[in-house]
Amino acid sequence: MTAQIISGKEIASRRREDLAEKVKNYSGSGTPVLAVVLVGEDEASEIYVRNKKKAAAAVGIGCEVMTFASSIGENALLEVIDELNENPHISGIIVQLPLPKQINSLHVLSRIRPDKDVDGFSPYNAGLLSYNHPDAFVAATPKGILALLLAVGIELTGKNVVIIGRSNIVGKPLAMLLTNHNCTVTLAHSKTQNLSEAVRQADIVVAACGRPKLVKADWLKEGAVVIDVGINRVDGRLCGDVDFEEAKEKASFITPVPGGVGPMTVAMLLENTFEAFCRQQNNQACCCRHCCS
Ligand code: NAD
Repeated sequence: MTAQIISGKEIASRRREDLAEKVKNYSGSGTPVLAVVLVGEDEASEIYVRNKKKAAAAVGIGCEVMTFASSIGENALLEVIDELNENPHISGIIVQLPLPKQINSLHVLSRIRPDKDVDGFSPYNAGLLSYNHPDAFVAATPKGILALLLAVGIELTGKNVVIIGRSNIVGKPLAMLLTNHNCTVTLAHSKTQNLSEAVRQADIVVAACGRPKLVKADWLKEGAVVIDVGINRVDGRLCGDVDFEEAKEKASFITPVPGGVGPMTVAMLLENTFEAFCRQQNNQACCCRHCCS
């Protein structure tokens, strides 16, 4: 079997075109604006932020990048978040991770008003997701993975899924999201025993561990759907957490790296920002007590 390649690049491009249309046709006043808080001088973060800004502009969403020295204290950063929370022109707020060691990222993410938390990383939105509540802003990468699976017509109900990696930004929220879509999910991590055995039982495998080409073809069940989240640079070239060349001969569907999950992440962040803007414009009450009491 040679797998069908799931082109995240094409699917994301269509989603961005649809979003641009919606932003253009929005009949109310105002423009959606995403605020990006960038602390320190991490080269990868700077590239991600540049890409987000460019993609936002292309769909008609404003993007204000606020940069701070890595020496900034936690209280000063919390004040920045407070100001953005109160600023009626800002629809969504994201804090580029990782933050410098002296700052507790949980404190900062918790401070973002839930109805502006378009990355969905705050404990409040993570909690709403676990309740399968429609107000939850779902983290962009898991949301993008779900969108890819649905776009190519994968039936989710009753499927066995193995997710490799339990981060708060990918693995855990994805486990919750796919559970909400009636999958049976195993969330594997670095201490999981017999990982290859677990993966062999999976109808859908999601690799999100940052280990180049960890998942081999002989780990896969014939016809498995393989989603590769990993972004690794090996000898100057990008590769995922799956051995793509081998795995594509065993899988039924597979995402490439680059051009798979990555483009979806940015598109979903922009969709969340527009959603936040619409809810705020319509004064749509969200169920939290922080912003709506
Ligand atoms: P992380 O780096 O915070 O954590 C890695 C996770 O993988 C941990 O839970 C760890 O237990 C697990 N792990 C590590 N080695 C393992 C092994 N040998 N076997 C099983 N589990 C193992 O995770 P992250 O931030 O979710 O990033 C994971 C990868 O996904 C990275 O390559 C990152 O660059 C990439 N990523 C891509 C996107 C995208 O949009 N495509 C978004 C976020 C992260």
